Amino acid sequence: MAKLFATEAAAENSLEAMRIHGAYGYSKEFNIERYYRDAPLLCIGEGTNELQRIIISRQLVARNPV
Ligand SMILES: Cc1cc2nc3c(=O)[nH]c(=O)nc-3n(C[C@H](O)[C@H](O)[C@H](O)COP(=O)(O)OP(=O)(O)OC[C@H]3O[C@@H](n4cnc5c(N)ncnc54)[C@H](O)[C@@H]3O)c2cc1C
Repeated sequence: MAKLFATEAAAENSLEAMRIHGAYGYSKEFNIERYYRDAPLLCIGEGTNELQRIIISRQLVARNPV
């Protein structure tokens, strides 16, 4: 859950930072450019977030039977 939340936050916030900084955000002079490139990879490594969602939801259903 922590990995899913943190990596989605990284993707969302790096995109927002890029847009706030405009052309400077795209320049290699600033770290934002690297965060923006790295964030999508974080959503893939160590199990993609799509599969994380499936695993988490299965566990939630198993722990909370109707
Ligand atoms: C930088 C990096 C680090 C990594 N580190 C690790 C690691 O430490 N440990 C490790 O085990 N693996 C690691 N991986 C492997 C990574 O977890 C795999 O790339 C991942 O399992 C996806 O496999 P795939 O690339 O073959 O994509 P595919 O399995 O072909 O999936 C393609 C897309 O379809 C989605 N998808 C697949 N099946 C389903 C489904 N049933 N329901 C919904 N969506 C689905 C996936 O989420 C993905 O978006 C790493 C990969 C990278 C790039």
